[in-house]
Amino acid sequence: MTRTIIFILSISLSIISCSQNATSKKIEKETTTLSENIPQEAKKSSIVKITKTDEEWKAELTDMEYKVLRKEGTERARTGDLWDHKEDGIYTCRGCALPLFDSSTKFKSGTGWPSYYQPLSDEVIESDTDYKIGYARDEVHCARCNGHLGHVFSDGPEPTGLRFCINSASLDFVGR
Ligand SMILES: [Zn+2]
Repeated sequence: MTRTIIFILSISLSIISCSQNATSKKIEKETTTLSENIPQEAKKSSIVKITKTDEEWKAELTDMEYKVLRKEGTERARTGDLWDHKEDGIYTCRGCALPLFDSSTKFKSGTGWPSYYQPLSDEVIESDTDYKIGYARDEVHCARCNGHLGHVFSDGPEPTGLRFCINSASLDFVGR
């Protein structure tokens, strides 16, 4: 009889401790999410980040777009649909439609990739340094969806001296 009571007692104790654990884990999770949001608000950028799972991106993008935008791939030179494109309008992010470049800043670079000397604003593009081909290059990506666009080099034309070398697969075009 005593054994049975002890057994029941120990089971109910373990149930109580389990449920306490679950509650404290939940609170911990909520706190983490809150503190993660603070730096974004502090930046005061008007661009609100878009985050999607890998599966969601795969469902929305073609294989080439996914490879370039989400896996930092590079299309082969002269294979994209926009490297030799000369219409008047705005080039937007293929991942989230954020306007990125004006056709008036596109120039003939001879590389086989769409090239621009400046983005529409400093806010729409973010930069990181990558070492994928053995030396440092400044990787550029969309400030809203983090989609990889290409790289920026310092051998561009005036007025900026910059060359944004962008994959066609990362872009869409909206005519004026
Ligand atoms: Zn984007």
